[in-house]
Amino acid sequence: MVERQLRARGITDERVLASMLLVPRHEFVPEELRDQAYEDHPLAIGENQTISQPYMVAVMTQELQLKPSDVVLEIGTGSGYQAAVLSRLASAVYTIERHQSLAFIAHTTLREVGYRNVIVICSDGSGGLPDKAPFDGIIVTAGAPEIPHALLDQLGEGGRLVIPVGEKMLQVCKRITKHGGRFETQDVTGCVFVPLIGKFGWEI
Ligand code: SAM
Repeated sequence: MVERQLRARGITDERVLASMLLVPRHEFVPEELRDQAYEDHPLAIGENQTISQPYMVAVMTQELQLKPSDVVLEIGTGSGYQAAVLSRLASAVYTIERHQSLAFIAHTTLREVGYRNVIVICSDGSGGLPDKAPFDGIIVTAGAPEIPHALLDQLGEGGRLVIPVGEKMLQVCKRITKHGGRFETQDVTGCVFVPLIGKFGWEI
C-alpha cells in the first residue's frame, strides 16, 4: 500500500509514509472486509459511512505538515484510522464523530491497538471544539458546503485547516493556513467525501 499507492503517487513526507506503514489498517475495518483493508479504495464501516481511501488519508495528512509537539483536531472519526495515523505524528489528537456507534467502535479500537493520545468525542463537530482551541492542525474528513468560520477561529498562529469543500457528491480539498491573523487558501486536489452533517455543514 505505502510503496504502490502512496509513494508512487507522489506522497513524499517520510513521517507520513512511516506512520501509514505502522498503523494496522485492518484493525479499523469491519471483519468481513478485512481482506480488502489495504486496497486502493474506501470501505463501508456502517451507518452509511466509510473509512477513506489510503491515498486520501496520506494526501490530507501530508498537507497538515504536523510537528511532534502539535495538537490536532479531526472532525469525522469514522473508523478511527485517520486519527491513529495522526496520533503517530502529533502530541495529541481530538477527534469528533456524530454517530455514537462509530465513536464507540473507534474509541475501542484505538485503545486496543494502543493509541493513547487520541480522545474520541461524540457530537456535531462542524463547529469544532472551542474549549480545546487553538489547534496547530484541523482536518475535516467529510465534505462541507463551505469553510466553517468556527474552525478558522480555532486555528493557532501558523495553524493549518485541511477540508473538502463543495457539492454533496464532489469537493475540492483545500488547505487554509493562518499567517499573522490572515488566511491563505490553497486547492490541494479534487475529492469525494460523505457530507459533513451539522450546524455548520449540510442539513440531515
Ligand atoms: N476519518 C475517518 C476514518 O479514518 O475512518 C473517515 C471519515 S468518513 C469519510 C466521515 C465521517 O464524518 C463519518 O463517520 C460521519 O459520520 C462523520 N461526520 C459527518 N458529519 C459530522 C459532524 N458534523 N461531526 C462529526 N462527525 C461527522
